[in-house]
Amino acid sequence: MSSHFYNCSSNGLSESSTAPVPRAHSLAEMFQCMWGYPQGLHCNYLLRGHNMSAHLHEVHGIHGSEKSRVECKWNHCGQELNIESLLRHVELIHMRIAYSCDCGETFSRGDTLDTHKKHCSSQ
Ligand SMILES: [Zn+2]
Ligand SMILES: [Zn+2]
Ligand SMILES: [Zn+2]
Repeated sequence: MSSHFYNCSSNGLSESSTAPVPRAHSLAEMFQCMWGYPQGLHCNYLLRGHNMSAHLHEVHGIHGSEKSRVECKWNHCGQELNIESLLRHVELIHMRIAYSCDCGETFSRGDTLDTHKKHCSSQ
């Protein structure tokens, strides 16, 4: 039952590609949910990045007021955050999502990208 679908958690020191930027992922890709269960198990559910916040909400009970404190159980991370920050934390730290513009610039937040696009000449 071991899936090698998403196999880039090790560091990429052997990279020989020309791109100097760290490898980033987009919300359109498939991700494996690594939300931890007791006994060291993980959720392992496969879904698109777009659906991850709904999945965390429905399946892992991440809901409530945006200021509620929750523990990030992704890969047994253990960090405590607001619900609001948790979704961003998971996307940024665990899923390594980056929002990129056609001009090549990448942003860690969708709203920052939107702001950038208003001024970007490539649009
Ligand atoms: Zn899950
Ligand atoms: Zn975490
Ligand atoms: Zn741009």
